Parts: sequence; structure tokens; C-alpha cells
Amino acid sequence: MYNAAIIGAGPAGIFAALEITKLKPDWKVILIEKGQKIEKRKCLLREGYEKCPTCKKCGLLCGWGGAGAFSDGKLTLTPDVGGHLVDYMDRKKVEDLIAYADQLYLDFGATDEVFGTDMKTFRELERQASLAELKLVHSPVRHLGTERSLDVLKSMQDYLDERITILNDVSAKSLIVENEQVKGIVLDNGDTICAEYTIIAPGREGADWLTREFAEHKIGMVNNAVDIGVRVELPAPVFEPLTDKLYESKLIYHSPTFGDEVRTFCMNPNGEVVQENYNGISTVNGHSYAEKTTNNTNFALLVSEKFTEPFKEPIQYGQHIARLANMLGGGILVQRFGDLLDGRRSTPDRIKASIIKPTLTCATPGDLSLVIPYRQMTSIIEMLQALDKICPGTASRYTLLYGIEVKFYSARVKLTNELETEGVKNLFAIGDGAGVTRGLIQASASGVFVARTICGRNHGA
Ligand SMILES: Cc1cc2nc3c(=O)[nH]c(=O)nc-3n(C[C@H](O)[C@H](O)[C@H](O)COP(=O)(O)OP(=O)(O)OC[C@H]3O[C@@H](n4cnc5c(N)ncnc54)[C@H](O)[C@@H]3O)c2cc1C
Repeated sequence: MYNAAIIGAGPAGIFAALEITKLKPDWKVILIEKGQKIEKRKCLLREGYEKCPTCKKCGLLCGWGGAGAFSDGKLTLTPDVGGHLVDYMDRKKVEDLIAYADQLYLDFGATDEVFGTDMKTFRELERQASLAELKLVHSPVRHLGTERSLDVLKSMQDYLDERITILNDVSAKSLIVENEQVKGIVLDNGDTICAEYTIIAPGREGADWLTREFAEHKIGMVNNAVDIGVRVELPAPVFEPLTDKLYESKLIYHSPTFGDEVRTFCMNPNGEVVQENYNGISTVNGHSYAEKTTNNTNFALLVSEKFTEPFKEPIQYGQHIARLANMLGGGILVQRFGDLLDGRRSTPDRIKASIIKPTLTCATPGDLSLVIPYRQMTSIIEMLQALDKICPGTASRYTLLYGIEVKFYSARVKLTNELETEGVKNLFAIGDGAGVTRGLIQASASGVFVARTICGRNHGA
């Protein structure tokens, strides 16, 4: 019998464990992770494979550290980005939780430097952005870099290894619920774990499992939006007016033609574009190392679509578009912006005759207009032209667009303000898998919050 069982060792699960061990050092806590320990994790794509070999358990997303392990480790220190925690508590509380989680990252070895804290510089950039009809969101960023991120997560693993039970390479298969109260978990190896509290933090990797399990126990879910777009890659100096000052800038634009929201996401100065695989679908992403640099900067341009009744399958919609790109390109497509505007595909020769060398070498030169719907494509073109006003050269004919980048946000679980499921007592859902967060720091903060909630209750155990 455990006091608390946690499913998933991503930032949400890890931070829940860290906070419980601090508040209740005598509690018996178990953390169940379907992937490997951090030192055993590897993503074959990052080790030189040309195409994603679609591993049974995705090495990029599963294992200690979750999706965050090989991530760029950008901690975006604001409630305005990376999640919806402000929908459950007041803003000040979210700010405090973010500051607390950030301090924990520092305690375990994160870098001191935070970009974007100089308000005078920010105000000037904000002014320039507004002249181009762009909204610049104030979002200070602590950048760990992929290598440092792994070190920090390893320190957390070592620390928790001495204090709680950690199971690797085993998945939670089903929840045990009796009289509308969670009692424990059945694992895929047949074992049963009994616990007073269960915290589910399975990330996007486990979102489908969570949805099925919650449907079984009649816990409500609400659809989130789906974000569809491209990854833009350009010479690093083009974006230096922003990246030198802010590192990552969050810019929001409403396209004149459709009024849809387009935003920059996951900016990687001197970084590289990478391929990802979700359930057999290749999509694109980006990251940057703290030490190893390239001559390019990349970021995503995402168009948010929230569908109205009767359509209820935003994830399938996004998957469908990504599959189309995979079908045409045998994986990821890449196109020069100039070729897109000229209505022709990019070819290997045209890509070679460019001033930008693609960092994702396995992408197939092609035509994104055959894949991305007119609505999203128009919004992306208009956003690139707006960005060109603050960073001239963004809408250059050589700028590379990789597709598709899709963010499948998990359906949002119906939760109370304590992030406890509506209908099943003592069952909490946090992080990206519950649709509550979309980034490292808010996922971590959600773990701290739930840990404090359960530790503050009166216990029978
Ligand atoms: C390439 C990449 C780069 C990123 N870069 C950044 C960045 O720079 N900054 C940022 O803020 N965010 C970034 N993100 C997003 C960030 O990683 C996620 O928002 C964050 O990791 C979510 O945390 P989580 O704990 O909710 O879920 P996850 O990190 O996804 O962890 C969930 C864990 O649960 C495990 N699991 C799933 N189902 C089960 C089950 N049934 N039983 C047991 N275990 C299970 C999974 O194996 C996984 O380890 C990036 C993501 C990716 C993929």
C-alpha cells in the first residue's frame, strides 16, 4: 500500500514526486514509467538514423524526463505560455508555482542566465512588433540546452531513487476505481499497485491511453484546439534583433484574410530542425544545444484551429494533414518560401542553390501547398510577411519551410480547481497528457501543485 502512485516520469510526475518527498518524507511513493532510466534512453533518429525507425516505445518521448529529456530545456517563466494553469487558480498563484519550480531546476543544476528580463529592451521590441501588427508576449526564458537538461534530470533521478520506488520499463494498464474513488493501478506486467492517491502524468505519449481509461470511468473530457503549421529555418543573423535580446520571442498575429491566430513557437537560435514520430506519423520540431551551434535559427509558425460542433476530432484532423505530407515526401517536406510563392515545388537543385543549408538533411524538397489547407497556408504566408517588417529577411525567397509541424494537444480532462478528476476521488491528472499544460515549466508546476494538495489533506492511511 502506497500513499501516492504517480504514472509517468516526465516533468509533471517528477516534480510531484520531488514535492511529496519534501513535504512527507515518510510517505511511500511509487513512480511508474513505461520508458527507460535516463542513462539508457536513446533516440535512434538523433544517433544518425536517416528515417525514424518507429520504435515500439518512442525513445524521444518515453523514459525518465519524458518528452522534456531531449528537449531544448527552455523554461518559459510566465503563466501566459505553455499551459492553462490560470484556468484553475489565480494568476499570482501560478506565478509563484512557476518561480518555485524554476528554483528547483536551479537547485538541480540549471543555468543561472535568464533571457528577456530587461523591460526597457522588451518595451522597444514590443513597440516595433506592434507597428507590424504583431503582439510580443513578455516571456522570460531560462535556457538549459539539451545536454544540461539531461544532467539536471539525471540529478533528479538520483535524488528520487534514494527516496521513492521507481519502476522503469513498465506501463500503467488500468485504474482500479471502487465507489467513485481510485484505489490503485494494474500494470502491464500483471502486478497491482494499491495507493491512496493516484497522480496521472502520462504526457502526450500517454494521452490516448488516458482518454480510453477516463472514458471507461466516465470522467469527462473537452476537446482542445489543434495547431498546424510549419517550421521556419533562416540564417541566424536575420532573427538576431530578437534572439540576441530575448532568446525566444513569442509573437502572435491575426491573419488579415481569415483572422486566425498564428504564433511563433519553440524558437531555436543557432539550432537544428529535427524529425519526430508520433504513432507512425513523421512531424517536424526543433531544438538547440548549449554548446554545439549551427548558422541557422528555426521556429514554428502555428495556426490554431478550434473546431465547432459537430466536429469532435481535432487530433485526427491534424494527423490526416501530417500523413498527407508524409505520403508526398516519404517523411518531412521542405520548401523554399520563394518556390511556394511562385507556385512550384522545391527541388534538390533549388535547395542547393540557396544561401541556407538545411539542418534536417532527410527532408524531401517538395510543395507544401499540396498539403496545407488554403486557410492555414494563407495565414502562414501573411505572418512571414509581418515578421519581415521587424526582422528583414524573414520573407526571403531562401527561407526554408518544413512540414508538417502539428501540435496535438490532448483533450482536456474535466478537473476541479485542485486538478482532481470530476467524478473519481483522489485521482489527479496533470501535465500535457491531461491537456492542462504544454511546456516544461507549467507541467512541473502542475506536479508541485497537486503534491501540495494531497499532502495537505487529512489522511486515513
Ligand atoms: C523535441 C521536444 C522539444 C521540446 N522543447 C521544449 C522546450 O524547450 N521548452 C518547453 O517548455 N517544452 C518543450 N517541449 C514540451 C515539453 O517537453 C512537454 O511540455 C513536457 O515534457 C510535458 O511534461 P509531462 O510530464 O506532462 O509529459 P511528458 O514529458 O510527455 O512525460 C510523460 C511520461 O509518461 C510516460 N507514460 C506515458 N504513458 C504511460 C503509462 N501508461 N504508464 C507509465 N508511463 C507512461 C511517458 O513514457 C513519459 O515519460 C518539447 C517537447 C519535445 C518533444
